[in-house]
Amino acid sequence: MSGKSKPCLFCKNEAEWMGVSNRDASEINCPVCIRYQVTRMELHSLEKEELPAAQRVLVISQTIRDARSGMVTIWSSGGTVEKPYIVRKLGDYAGRTISHAGKPDALLETCAKKLAGLNPFQHFRLEEQDAYLLQMDGFREMQQWLRILLDQKLLESETFEKVDRRGLGGTTYDVKTFPFYISAKGWARIEELFRNVNSNKAFIAMAFGHSERASIQKAVEDACAATGWEAFTIDKKEHINGITDEIIASINQSRFIVAEFTGNNPGVYYEAGYAAGKGIPVVLVVKKAQLDDQAQGVHFDTRHINHIAWTDYDDLKKKLINRINAVIPRSSEP
Ligand SMILES: [Zn+2]
Repeated sequence: MSGKSKPCLFCKNEAEWMGVSNRDASEINCPVCIRYQVTRMELHSLEKEELPAAQRVLVISQTIRDARSGMVTIWSSGGTVEKPYIVRKLGDYAGRTISHAGKPDALLETCAKKLAGLNPFQHFRLEEQDAYLLQMDGFREMQQWLRILLDQKLLESETFEKVDRRGLGGTTYDVKTFPFYISAKGWARIEELFRNVNSNKAFIAMAFGHSERASIQKAVEDACAATGWEAFTIDKKEHINGITDEIIASINQSRFIVAEFTGNNPGVYYEAGYAAGKGIPVVLVVKKAQLDDQAQGVHFDTRHINHIAWTDYDDLKKKLINRINAVIPRSSEP
């Protein structure tokens, strides 16, 4: 089925428009937004009045994220649909604020992720999707943040410099045509900001002696898998002599650690403290009964830190998924 060529409703790139047979909607295949549908009612209101920039950026970012996870967003005022379709309302993305201060660092992180497993000084290109996923208004905004990173000598690009130095103020460049690379100074900044930025591993620090060990471990592993991380632990039965080089090395390779405090195991306190000191995020969890128990509790130094208090496998898994999504940033992955 081939449709007609018209600009995408949101990003304005040339896209393919098609009718949808089973609902009163259009389907749009866009090089940036990938694939989405919009009902006739939403289409009419969008033709009358364009979305404010911030709302449009969030809508594009959501559409790309959905498509990358195998779904098709239907921009509609409501209704129920079956997978892989998902109904979303444009109004839910109105009036939200976008935080700008963290954008240069987040852009640098996106660049670092493109070089996972490659030579650190290899050239790479940025895509318009990268801009929207960073909540930037396409290349128009991204090129300004790039200017800042180039001025700080964190990124380099001879070709971009040449064009940009001509001072074509107000022009939007096709950023994807320019190769960039990360300078040594850029890598120093990345490693200071995002320890183990390219690691997908999460270390589980937990006591191994207590009765619920198996279900705790399974809940942590399942929550990490659901959020795109690989949880692992070291079987401490073979390491009864305490903290080993292997445990330290494992923490050093992790993007974050999950520390489970039920039973107040001293090893878990040590491992959590070590990770925190290294700047590696620590997600603290403990069984609710223990947190509530004044006599047992958790050690006074960590009580003021927000622990996840869990009651059973399902509760721990659900709360961990929410916490991991909230505190461990992933800039360029869905
Ligand atoms: Zn688009």
